[in-house]
Amino acid sequence: MDFSEIKALDEKYVLQTYGRNQLAIDHGKGATLWDTQGKEYIDFTSGIGVCSLGYADGEWANAVYGQAMKLGHISNLFYTEPYAKLAAKLVPAAGMAAAFFGNSGAEANEGMIKLARKYSYDKYGPGRAAIITLKNSFHGRTITTLKATGQDHFHDFFFPFTEGFRYAEANRLESLLEQAGDDVCGVMMELIQGEGGVNPLDADYVREAAKLCEERDWLLLIDEVQTGVGRTGSMFAFQQFGIKPDVVTFAKGIAGGLPFGGFMVNEKCRGVLRAGDHGSTFGGNPVSAAAANVVMDRLTPAFLAQVAEKGKYLREGIGKINSPYVSGIRGMGLMTGVGVQGTTHKELKDKLMDAGLLCLTAGKDTLRLLPPLVITKEELDKGLSIMAGVMG
Ligand SMILES: *Cc1c(COP(=O)(O)O)cnc(C)c1O
Repeated sequence: MDFSEIKALDEKYVLQTYGRNQLAIDHGKGATLWDTQGKEYIDFTSGIGVCSLGYADGEWANAVYGQAMKLGHISNLFYTEPYAKLAAKLVPAAGMAAAFFGNSGAEANEGMIKLARKYSYDKYGPGRAAIITLKNSFHGRTITTLKATGQDHFHDFFFPFTEGFRYAEANRLESLLEQAGDDVCGVMMELIQGEGGVNPLDADYVREAAKLCEERDWLLLIDEVQTGVGRTGSMFAFQQFGIKPDVVTFAKGIAGGLPFGGFMVNEKCRGVLRAGDHGSTFGGNPVSAAAANVVMDRLTPAFLAQVAEKGKYLREGIGKINSPYVSGIRGMGLMTGVGVQGTTHKELKDKLMDAGLLCLTAGKDTLRLLPPLVITKEELDKGLSIMAGVMG
């Protein structure tokens, strides 16, 4: 099928809930993609931070195929090897105590919110269920995680939302204190606000907020759905901020392209959720878990150091373009935000796409770059030279 045929079917039979790019992607290799017309693109999107090992990784594909041929699914009422092995890799790598596996970021955050409320209920009784989140955050698309998201425009239409969320300004401890109260059980934040515009929080603020949480027995709930599993050049971003979360979520990059998400808890929170308190039909599916095991095996310290280095190289390269359209460059590892001025982020993204480079947008004026973690120097250079041509 060519692009116009695919698009016609989609428009006729699919709910049009996305502002889609005007191309259909057909296949990829590494960090390079081809559309249905055979045109080549350098990929600075990884889906949306999902395809950590790029496209058509042989080891990943073999693990998926091998597991699918062995056991494609079984309920969580049974033990499976890929599931247990994955937990045994992920939990020590994060310095946490135990994991729960689901399928998506929103589901992971829902679980984390449930855990925070039950932790508090078990210890203090009812009336302590409020969670403070940050303005400009993004935590998901369910009724509860929309409400957890600190952006007003996500709070339209779908009333009534889940109660018990208040919003503090990022990087201002006083704002967090203004939202404090006897009813609070947790503080939830992304360390780099991804959808909100790739805004890294101040490390000092994060450490002070963590201290406040400890003093008041509020759970420190870190949403690493986008920043986790190698994206920022460490296994988790919190490891570079010098804090230890009580609960941390992950999703996007963990299984290299298959649906997978979950959360990990520290020792203090290990006993909160017991048999029957939480679950997921598809969560920790053996095929997705086999894929995630391949991702985890690839994320050696040397690999993570390369992610950090490649991110630095990319940001320095963009800086050298000296573009009139760039108002600022920020990020960690292979998570980069480029502030856009003199045009819109969407227009710039479309121009880059026409020239053969796929990028994402975020916030009101940010180009968001999330290349596959395996991107090569050659692919980075190709992407940079396309940016120079369009933006220079
Ligand atoms: C993408 C994202 C989510 C939602 O993940 P889904 O898998 O789309 O449900 C939640 N939090 C953050 C920080 C994200 O980037």
